[in-house]
Amino acid sequence: MPIRHLPEDLINRIAAGEVVERPASVVKELVENAIDAGATRIVVTTAGGGRSLIRVEDDGQGMERDDLVLSVERHATSKLADDGLDDIRTLGFRGEALASIGAVAHLTVATRTAEAASGLRIEVDRSRKSGVLPQAMKRGTIVTVRDLFAGVPARLKFLKSDRAEAAAVADVVKRLAMANPHIHFVLDGSDRSPSNWPADGELRARVMQVMGADFAENAVPLATTRHGVVVTGLAGLPTYSRANSLSQFYFVNGRSVRDKVLLGAVRAAYADFVFRDRFPAIALFLRVDPAAVDVNVHPAKAELRFRDSGGVRGAVIRAILDALGEAGYRASSTVADDVIGAFRVPEMATAAAAPPTAFGGPPSPRLRREEGEVLTAGFAGLAEPSARYEAFDPPAAEESYPLGTARAQMFENFIVAQNGDSLVLVDQHAAHERLVYERFRARLADGPVPSQMQLIPVVIEMPEEDCGRLEEAAPVLARLGLHLERFGPRAIAVRETPALLGQSDIDGLVSDIADGLAEWDSAEALGDRLDAIIARMACHGSVRAGRVLRIDEMNALLRDMERTPHSGQCIHGRPTYVELKKADLERMFGRTR
Ligand code: ADP
Ligand code: MG
Repeated sequence: MPIRHLPEDLINRIAAGEVVERPASVVKELVENAIDAGATRIVVTTAGGGRSLIRVEDDGQGMERDDLVLSVERHATSKLADDGLDDIRTLGFRGEALASIGAVAHLTVATRTAEAASGLRIEVDRSRKSGVLPQAMKRGTIVTVRDLFAGVPARLKFLKSDRAEAAAVADVVKRLAMANPHIHFVLDGSDRSPSNWPADGELRARVMQVMGADFAENAVPLATTRHGVVVTGLAGLPTYSRANSLSQFYFVNGRSVRDKVLLGAVRAAYADFVFRDRFPAIALFLRVDPAAVDVNVHPAKAELRFRDSGGVRGAVIRAILDALGEAGYRASSTVADDVIGAFRVPEMATAAAAPPTAFGGPPSPRLRREEGEVLTAGFAGLAEPSARYEAFDPPAAEESYPLGTARAQMFENFIVAQNGDSLVLVDQHAAHERLVYERFRARLADGPVPSQMQLIPVVIEMPEEDCGRLEEAAPVLARLGLHLERFGPRAIAVRETPALLGQSDIDGLVSDIADGLAEWDSAEALGDRLDAIIARMACHGSVRAGRVLRIDEMNALLRDMERTPHSGQCIHGRPTYVELKKADLERMFGRTR
């Protein structure tokens, strides 16, 4: 076949394949256009998941007649200066969205500028353009897309259910709304329940509208500038992690992006606190010099390229770690909520002996939220001997400790403390594990961790492969204060153990580390695994559940927690303590309505 130039409508359809993947990508392009046009209010309406109808209405600057005609042409844009792609400050610039949409749907663009006496509209039906027609409307632009992909069966096949497509549209609008807290967003349609997010300009308020007040309450603010990268936003507490990444929002210079560098940085920052299969919730906003980032690497501009990705990664990790470090002992308040939900209010049946009025009205909805299997630990244990409490005069400064003053130990593992108006329950094993872990890391930063000599080397018999792996790892383990050597084909002799661990179960510790080495395959650079090894060590050096503590030991632990970064979660990401407000307790007993 001879070479020929492709006809315009075919070019458009090919381009549409890249820009217009699904209804959500259409919505993204149209809302971005509205934002670029200076809109203060944007209304998005869909039907059939966006397949039958997408309408985006804005109150932006609108277009003059000539611009309206050009707007639906390919490679026609008002946003790019002659000198190129190095300094892009608008969301759009490729000038192909409207042309592409017009190639695969029925498109109507209606618009009116502030100066125009009336509005105008143009219609495009699979690249066939109408003339300019009059349209009664207020200032702004209304773009309507009907029957998306009606003539493109290959595309239709790849669309998901209406519900899934409608959800994808909502996700796109959320991201755009978060990036533009100064704009009022409305999302509506026959395929969804409406969202209305008025603008008060504050990022925090918008984050609350979009991600929920829960998130804002369980997040810490980010504010770091490093290597010319400004990082702001909110980072969720590790205990507020989710099972998927839908609560992760990334923005670079006001553009919502999916970027490997940012994803990786967030994962790295939380690696110590959140399990691998959990996702921290985060709203991350970056400002970088527009010339230091290339946004033109992806047709939908969802991906980008940083000139200095190492610097960006470093800035993001630093920002998150600083913020979480400051949060210190804070665990998420939803943990307490779950606990409250787990306390069971006595069933009416079992309480039949009491006069019916004794329990007041029915338990609050919050209390009965957890039906079925619940933690039955309850407070029944109070009467049992495993509870241990001492009467004492609380020190005057009691209220000044965030985690309060210890009052009792329950089940030989839970510390009950009171701080002013809260009851604090601490899992002593989990908390201590974190403390030992953090201490290890702090020590390691100053060189090898101090060790203590065993009077007689402890000889541990193990399978030959384990002995081999441990022998290979010996130099690294020595830096952590664990000095061991091969002792025949199937045994290891331990000469010194980390002083931080105190008198611990050496046997268990070494075989745990051997398990880890097998799992990670010792061929891998062990240096990268230091944290994982420390985690295993910390677990063995901790006050195990089942150890009776004196009140002063408990208080020492609480004060330690307050001083130690990240002590709100154990190294496995579980909370180390929960806090119940006096008001929560009163509610549980029906003292308040
Ligand atoms: P791009 O946004 O990359 O420039 P589009 O195809 O999305 O390309 O839009 C083409 C042009 O149409 C824009 O450059 C802009 O001038 C104009 N335009 C599109 N949507 C709007 C709108 N909502 N309000 C005002 N002008 C618009
Ligand atoms: Mg555009």
